[in-house]
Amino acid sequence: MSGKTIVILGGGFGGLAVANQLRRVLPPEHRVVVVERQSTFYMRPFNMRLMIGEMKDRQEGERRLSELARKGIEWVQGEVLSIDPTARKVHTSSGPLVGDYLVIALGAEQDEKAIPGFAESALNLYDPNGAIMIHRAVQEFAKGRAAVLICRTPFSCPAAPYEAALLMDSAFRSKGNREAVEIAIYTPEPRPMPAAGPEMGNAVIGMLKERDIKYHPQHKLQRVNSGARKIVFEGGEASFDLLVGIPPHVAPRVVREAGLTDDTGWIPVEPDTLETRYPGVFALGDVTSIRQPNPTGLFLPKAWVFADEQSRTVAKNIASHIKGEDRSSRFDGTGFCYVETGDGLAAYGSGNFYAYPAAKVYLEPPSPRHHEERKRIELEQLEALV
Ligand SMILES: Cc1cc2nc3c(=O)[nH]c(=O)nc-3n(C[C@H](O)[C@H](O)[C@H](O)COP(=O)(O)OP(=O)(O)OC[C@H]3O[C@@H](n4cnc5c(N)ncnc54)[C@H](O)[C@@H]3O)c2cc1C
Repeated sequence: MSGKTIVILGGGFGGLAVANQLRRVLPPEHRVVVVERQSTFYMRPFNMRLMIGEMKDRQEGERRLSELARKGIEWVQGEVLSIDPTARKVHTSSGPLVGDYLVIALGAEQDEKAIPGFAESALNLYDPNGAIMIHRAVQEFAKGRAAVLICRTPFSCPAAPYEAALLMDSAFRSKGNREAVEIAIYTPEPRPMPAAGPEMGNAVIGMLKERDIKYHPQHKLQRVNSGARKIVFEGGEASFDLLVGIPPHVAPRVVREAGLTDDTGWIPVEPDTLETRYPGVFALGDVTSIRQPNPTGLFLPKAWVFADEQSRTVAKNIASHIKGEDRSSRFDGTGFCYVETGDGLAAYGSGNFYAYPAAKVYLEPPSPRHHEERKRIELEQLEALV
């Protein structure tokens, strides 16, 4: 068996997860190469901690990718400039690379400019600096309308905007000015986290109602008028004094230009093996569009818990193929998420997103245990990845 090269595009959550899994299952003669433009990995869920001031600096959630060498994982720092999926060849700003296998884990890009007025008006929860600014703004906010705005679907971590509203509620209660603040969520979704099924959505709506957080589903955004502090939707508008935004997400341009995407704008893959239509080329994590294999046809949410499970399947199947074994591993659509509700509490949802006839995901009520568990798991992930 001669040494093979597995080229992984993207050293975010999914790329690092699959690199680690491959290193575990493959002997050292095989090369595991990660191409990533950034020099550090940052655990993006830590934005929620920055937002509540529990973490002061993004560096607490960052690790240097140069550390990957200790594990026998090669890191090429560079921009992926073009991908030829048929030849499994990649051009990067550090030179060309050819893989026996290619794993595309380039995530989702945020396209703030797609919504006129968004960048000028909203504090971006999905950017660590934006999360820090939200913390400051909430501390200074005395009275008025605080809105959470979801621009488009799909977006990464469908729970995060709901968490943001619940955490603001908690922050204003601690400050003693909750009565003076109206909190509202505007989203194009029909209900919270639709891909998780109706039980989950209804449970979240219940939590919002309990906290007097106004919920406005099916609101299609057109633009934000920063001067007048108005959000303009198809058929109406809403005012705000503080705007927390989730920008539109798109697949990275290099992926679109390679012709890897379909009419969803994302890379279609087999729901259980994460194979693309090109032999030896896999995609996982946020860059994919995976329809639930049930009559709903809804898309699997973009979340690290799925990227993590998918990385095991992809690594095992590449290793089996290299070793000539007739075994295949399958991703089964199970997953979990925490919904931070403030006051040191988090709810916990878990279940099967591939269940028939619709996803079955249930939410356990908020408790300090779930909050602590989440913190522990996220830290463990960070330590395990780099
Ligand atoms: C605020 C927030 C909270 C979240 N909370 C949770 C949570 O509680 N639970 C959960 O499961 N998920 C959560 N997520 C989602 C989770 O972070 C993502 O699903 C996960 O990071 C996806 O991994 P990925 O590898 O697909 O993409 P990413 O982690 O985004 O990695 C993609 C990588 O590709 C690199 N890249 C892109 N284009 C190029 C290029 N041309 N050249 C070189 N490199 C490139 C990027 O720099 C990036 O490092 C949260 C996300 C946010 C923003």
